[in-house]
Amino acid sequence: MWNSRKVGVLGGGQLGRMLVESANRLNIQVNVLDADNSPAKQISAHKGHVTGSFKEPSAVRELAKTCDVVTAEIEHVDTYALEEIASEVQVEPSWKAIRTIQNKFDQKKHLTKYGIPMAEYRELVKNTPEELADIGEQLGFPLMLKSKTMAYDGRGNYRVQKKEDIPAALEALKDRPLYAEKWAYFKMELAVMVVKTKDGVLSYPTVETVQEDSICKLVYAPARNVSEAVNQKAQELARKAVAAFDGKGVFGVEMFLLEDDSLLLCEIASRIHNSGHYTIEGCALSQFDTHLRAILDLPIPPKSLELRQPSIMLNIIGGATPDSHLKAAEAALSIPNASIHLYSKGAAKPGRKMGHVTVTAPTMHEAETAIQPLIDVVDEIRS
Ligand code: ATP
Ligand code: MG
Ligand code: MG
Repeated sequence: MWNSRKVGVLGGGQLGRMLVESANRLNIQVNVLDADNSPAKQISAHKGHVTGSFKEPSAVRELAKTCDVVTAEIEHVDTYALEEIASEVQVEPSWKAIRTIQNKFDQKKHLTKYGIPMAEYRELVKNTPEELADIGEQLGFPLMLKSKTMAYDGRGNYRVQKKEDIPAALEALKDRPLYAEKWAYFKMELAVMVVKTKDGVLSYPTVETVQEDSICKLVYAPARNVSEAVNQKAQELARKAVAAFDGKGVFGVEMFLLEDDSLLLCEIASRIHNSGHYTIEGCALSQFDTHLRAILDLPIPPKSLELRQPSIMLNIIGGATPDSHLKAAEAALSIPNASIHLYSKGAAKPGRKMGHVTVTAPTMHEAETAIQPLIDVVDEIRS
């Protein structure tokens, strides 16, 4: 029986929680490695969970003993522990893929070998103002200074507007391994969720993402006002980039669409991803469904990845007060065709992802009209 195989997941945040929601519907047991009251564990009552951190080798080893396949909801995990357990349990995607992807500079070097177009980048080895000034001469200003590791939600990025900003940039990212990226003058950001299975590489529709302060705010599925040629190009780029890595599961691919309609890859995530949350309501199989099916070698009809209705996803991000996000959720209760997801993380902190809302409608215009009052509420909370 296929449902007798158990899945272990490193991380029990909102992504792990939505993975458990999907697994529960198929009677698949998911053993979560994280703190006891993590969002994923709250909705999963069984004794297979492990208490600890996905950065702790002993905890990763303990998780491996409880399951048949290990996966991760976050890329910042101990890949040396994953490498070690790979001899006794299946690890998906491969620890090699996660190790390369978790270091954004290594990821770029790897993708360069596969001919993936990206913004020009330079490594910093000394992290000195002189070195960055020199790179600034080569790449021009503004440029984006980035931490190679432990980056998420833009925490790890610093926009260096001009040469005079260099000391502040190095101070903001001090003690972190760095690289610099040429500024991408994009007209839109796109994303494609890709599913790597034992048989090949499938992709969800091309979506438009809107970032505010480097953090994802909105996702429009499908991307608005994008030609079929760009759509196809984005699909091909995303699949080609993911094919460069070993292992099975869902990957998120972020891209920049430039003024001339050319595409640059921004980054890859080796996991289920914020820009794929719309698939829960928008598609027959969500990214969480297909991730589980991919790692368990269960069938995925490609048609089930098609969009059923235009969808808009809005993140609910923590504001100034601990319960500010609840105001947004409450407002969403009255929005037609809105599905509300709260992550049960407790008190909000500014910039923390506390939940999201997806609105679907027969046309994108109707979805935009329906969600606008909620965008206004969210903007007010964040301001
Ligand atoms: P995530 O939460 O997606 O993992 P992250 O912290 O890894 O984010 P990036 O995805 O590298 O950061 O960048 C976040 C956002 O910053 C991008 O979506 C884009 O809006 C902006 N950005 C990043 N790199 C560049 C660039 N080279 N030029 C212009 N804008 C950029
Ligand atoms: Mg990232
Ligand atoms: Mg990103």
